[in-house]
Amino acid sequence: MKCWDPRIEEIPKEELHRLQYRLLKTLVYKLYSLSDFYHRRMKEAGVHPDDIRTLEDVQKLPFMYKSDLRDHYPDRLFTVPQEELVRYHVSSGTTGKPTVVGYTQRDIENWTNSLARALVSCGLGRGDVIQVSYGYGLFTGGLGLHYGAERIGATVIPTSTGNTERQIELMMDLKATAIACTPSYLLHIGEVAEKMGVSIKNDTRLRAAILGAEPWSERMRNRIQEWLGVKAYDIYGTSELYGPLFTECHEQQGIHIWGDLALVEIIDPETNAPLPAGERGELTMTVLQKEALPIVRFRIGDITTMRDDVCACGRTHPRITRIEGRVDDMLIIRGINVFPSQIEHTLMGIPEVGREFQIVVDRKAELDSLLVRVELTHEAFSDRIKDLMNIRKKVAERLQSALLVNAEVELVEPGTLPRFEGKAKRVVDRRKL
Ligand SMILES: [Zn+2]
Repeated sequence: MKCWDPRIEEIPKEELHRLQYRLLKTLVYKLYSLSDFYHRRMKEAGVHPDDIRTLEDVQKLPFMYKSDLRDHYPDRLFTVPQEELVRYHVSSGTTGKPTVVGYTQRDIENWTNSLARALVSCGLGRGDVIQVSYGYGLFTGGLGLHYGAERIGATVIPTSTGNTERQIELMMDLKATAIACTPSYLLHIGEVAEKMGVSIKNDTRLRAAILGAEPWSERMRNRIQEWLGVKAYDIYGTSELYGPLFTECHEQQGIHIWGDLALVEIIDPETNAPLPAGERGELTMTVLQKEALPIVRFRIGDITTMRDDVCACGRTHPRITRIEGRVDDMLIIRGINVFPSQIEHTLMGIPEVGREFQIVVDRKAELDSLLVRVELTHEAFSDRIKDLMNIRKKVAERLQSALLVNAEVELVEPGTLPRFEGKAKRVVDRRKL
């Protein structure tokens, strides 16, 4: 199957924009009359629903931030009564209160259909066996993928996360053809499999991996594809936008954002000005058809770039490039902005470097220091001091030229740095301790 819903996925661009405008207008009128929060925010911003006369007029609307959800904990931003809800998900806040999101039956439908389109665009469908190794429960990953995979007629193995040896046995016994999990968990699965004497590439039917919930680099993709023999697809979403929601198609040239569900803007995080396609900035989204918890101009905090040309696959909806990091993950080291993803990208281009690394930032004598701990491959790890010194020098030089900041490099034995069953935590910022 080429498209799950060709009528909408291949809609001419002008028609898509007209549809988006109609949905936006309806949403804004609805919120102005139904939601105290949006009514007040719009009044403060001096904007009335009648002022929304074109799609670009979305820029007149006020931004919404993660703190707005926390400040209205648990459900004071919901615009439907509890009887209308069929589910809650809760995201654990790294700081302070968690955020609660709620879904009507129609919200679940839209979420499921979005993933059905996405999974089909990755070449999956009836006959596939999809192992969902995202966490099931309050986190949106597991159940989100589960519903999407069932919708396209695939067979789901709901393994959730953890118990890795059993995951590998089930992958083999039930002949999984695809897996959905974080990229760092797939690395862990690959390593545990090798210890069990199993080659994912040769001994399983796994051919696709739907990877997300943390930033990862293009070079990490290449390594995973080569090592495990899968095609690795990037998936994107956050609990405020239903959950994991959008993926790349088989062209692997950016994540398709279904325009009938979400309106994308890229904002300069410093000036709040909208940026044109092709410029890097903060992803901001308006979810156009959400019932329980409407989301308007939500500043997600992820750094990306928008592409508005038509994809080679024929889908007309805008795409975003791989998430490069989060506005708040950006490390400022001696005044220079450094994204952990830049470090990953650089390291993964060096053949002697293994699969894991760790970034340690500290402050010594009022000066920021950057230490990068790098696992070597088994082949590169030797007892010859001279070889190790040369590798260390090469890694340090590559990092310096990519980051424009000096990094101290420590080479470590393969398999000694932490592994992750969920989201990776590769940065240790001792300045914050
Ligand atoms: Zn495409």
